Amino acid sequence: MLITLLLFGYYVLTSMKSYLYDEEKINVTTTSNMVASFAAEYIDDETGYLDTISFDRFLKGLRVDSQMRVLVLGKDITVLYDSQNNQNLLGVAQVRPSVLSAINGTDGFVRYDRDDIISFDAAAPIINSDGKILGVVNIIYVPDTTSHFIDAILTEMIFLIIVISILIGVVIFIVANIVSKRIVDFTSKITSMSDDGILDEKLDISGNDEISRLGEAFNMMSEKVVNLEMQRVQFVSDASHELKTPLSSIKLMADSILQTPDITMDYVREFMTDMNNEVDRLNRIVNKLLYITKMDVHSNDENKNLELISLNDIVQGIEKNLQPLAKKADITLVTSAPGEIFLMANKDVLWQGIYNIVDNAIKYTDSDGYVLVALEQKNSFVTIEVRDTGVGISKEDTDKIFDRFYRVDKARSRETGGTGLGLSIALSAVKYHNGTIEVESDPGKGSTFRIILPDTVPEKEEEEEI
Ligand code: ADP
Repeated sequence: MLITLLLFGYYVLTSMKSYLYDEEKINVTTTSNMVASFAAEYIDDETGYLDTISFDRFLKGLRVDSQMRVLVLGKDITVLYDSQNNQNLLGVAQVRPSVLSAINGTDGFVRYDRDDIISFDAAAPIINSDGKILGVVNIIYVPDTTSHFIDAILTEMIFLIIVISILIGVVIFIVANIVSKRIVDFTSKITSMSDDGILDEKLDISGNDEISRLGEAFNMMSEKVVNLEMQRVQFVSDASHELKTPLSSIKLMADSILQTPDITMDYVREFMTDMNNEVDRLNRIVNKLLYITKMDVHSNDENKNLELISLNDIVQGIEKNLQPLAKKADITLVTSAPGEIFLMANKDVLWQGIYNIVDNAIKYTDSDGYVLVALEQKNSFVTIEVRDTGVGISKEDTDKIFDRFYRVDKARSRETGGTGLGLSIALSAVKYHNGTIEVESDPGKGSTFRIILPDTVPEKEEEEEI
């Protein structure tokens, strides 16, 4: 602001100066021209003699500014007349650029700017009616009003700049204090939050400016962090609990074997079989946990390793894999597709997602039931519908089944080797492909899980592939 003010002041001052100087220049040159045009009458053509008395009277009649010193010079540029009556100057030659130019027939003008004293020097030739140059009228003008005027403006401007600067300074100081005080408040609160680990603190937001919006964004972020932290704690506690159950069983069975001195081999074998089952269960949980962690880490990756895959191949592969399980449970597993459907997807991730849902459909359907997997491609979406005639899910449970470790019927889930992680893995896999899962269920009659994925195949590639 100060630099702008200074530049502005400098600009105003210089333009004002040049305007005033131009005015003065016009004033001096016109006067010298006018005096020169009359002066020829007072000079003898032959002798070059100037009738100083008559000329003086004429000049006084003109009422020329008293600060203008009017000199009349002869052909030899010596002074014939001086309006300030300085006898010393009479007869002295005036060898100055303005005079030299005038004696050669052209008006001359020079502005002197020495030690803050400005003087204007204008000269005009005195030409008689025959066009002969008889001499020169030279005016020297030292205006004290101009420089005083400029000085006065300069002083006022400096004063104004100082006052404005102080005002701006005070305003900026107050505003900056208000703004920075809030930022300092925010910073100290955020620092204390991160230092003390108190994540659910909120910033006080007042107003509707950028800083308030920053505070709002921060509060939203901290809310998300708190939620994530709660989920993390819940997850660790659930995971520990899930791991603890099979471990306790194993420990119990091992203790029983050790503490029964005359245990028969049949009992040992029975216990060992149970222990083996529990170890398998532990293994399944740990593998799924590792898979979930991997998905969490990679779900936001730029490079998701997508490739052009045939959805039919994946579904047929899953069917082949799960057909023995379905057969064992007396369940009819059927797949249907209108034609070949291609998709840009990560094959392994998508496989796991669909597999878990079909696997559940078989697990939660009683014997003589049906599981139908149908593919559909419509309106730039690809749908994989898994319909079963199983136990179904109540309305309240439908919202929770995708939570990690959530199981509606713990006993049945345990019986079928469930971990409560299958659907959360399926959801992560579908989200990995920017898709969604819809669930419709009629308790006692069956459920329908619908995986909806965006149709991501570039048209050309699809045609070529087909
Ligand atoms: P689990 O390993 O126990 O199957 P999931 O995360 O796969 O865990 O499923 C969570 C819960 O959702 C299951 O325990 C079950 O109660 C319910 N569920 C999932 N799929 C079905 C289905 N097709 N029919 C009925 N209930 C289901």
